[in-house]
Amino acid sequence: TQPVLSVRDLRVEFVTRRGVLKAIDGISFDIAKGEVLGVVGESGAGKSVTGSAVIGLIDPPGRIAGGEVLLSGLRIDNLPPEEMRRVRGKRIGMIFQDPLTSLNPLYRVSEQLVETIRTHTNLSSAAARKRAIDLLAEVGIPAPDKRIDSYPHEFSGGMRQRVVIALALCAEPELIIADEPTTALDVSVQAQIIALLKRLGREHGTAIMLVTHDMGVIAETADRVAVMYAGRIAEIGPVREVVQNPLHPYAKGLMGAIPSLESDTDRLVQIPGSMPRLSAIPPGCAFNPRCPYVFDRCRVERPEPVQHSDHRVACHLYDQSSVRSEAVA
Ligand code: SF4
Ligand code: MG
Repeated sequence: TQPVLSVRDLRVEFVTRRGVLKAIDGISFDIAKGEVLGVVGESGAGKSVTGSAVIGLIDPPGRIAGGEVLLSGLRIDNLPPEEMRRVRGKRIGMIFQDPLTSLNPLYRVSEQLVETIRTHTNLSSAAARKRAIDLLAEVGIPAPDKRIDSYPHEFSGGMRQRVVIALALCAEPELIIADEPTTALDVSVQAQIIALLKRLGREHGTAIMLVTHDMGVIAETADRVAVMYAGRIAEIGPVREVVQNPLHPYAKGLMGAIPSLESDTDRLVQIPGSMPRLSAIPPGCAFNPRCPYVFDRCRVERPEPVQHSDHRVACHLYDQSSVRSEAVA
């Protein structure tokens, strides 16, 4: 069956005075109906830029430099801005770290939900209000028929994020992009929001792209995970596989340090060194200065993704041609 989201060899550049920075340098992945794909990596790895590229919100000096984005088979990366705005409102929902970026503080929640529902349906305002109350109930807002007339600031952080999720669901989108949706919330509330996202994905068949630096959140929520490093996907595969049996040396490092949802640390990386800045990505494999397995080829040739059982991994250690040529040499 056709994936809801298909990203093909996507490249995003930022044109600066010092040159062209490759923020995303050729990434490919799919998300199926009802599936949660976790996208994880250190800050600056390209996770949020990937999300922004999918929803057509890369602002100059950034630009999509190549590749394709398909939503249920339809190319959306080359749509005129006006059409893309419609796709964003109707077919792709967005949830960000700060609920207040999605909610207008000056309007009651009821007004915002009803207006959004009426934009996407031909329901009367009474019917739209009923639908809004149902959505608030679905995302776990107690006494939704009363709370619906509150202003955003009258909700706690966790409840506000539930309201945002209800808002994202108004148009019954095929795809939801959630960028660090729980990072600003208390640990106990995080777990509830994660359980909610997971349930909604299942029940509505929504495909979810969950962007986070928190491997614990991914392990709890995602069906598959893409590990990003310096604008590329180092490894992608079923979450249990990648967590328990990571292949890429960077993923191995990450998985050694999965914080539990109960712990208050979100430290992810125990690998010495740090991710290179976009202006200083080393030739060959971007991870080579930090990699304990580095060999000569890694410093000159960039590893391309290869299929290895359920995983797709971009590392010369798993490239059969590498094994053969090393053996011959
Ligand atoms: Fe390490 Fe080489 Fe694999 Fe890069 S390609 S992760 S440097 S072994
Ligand atoms: Mg980010």
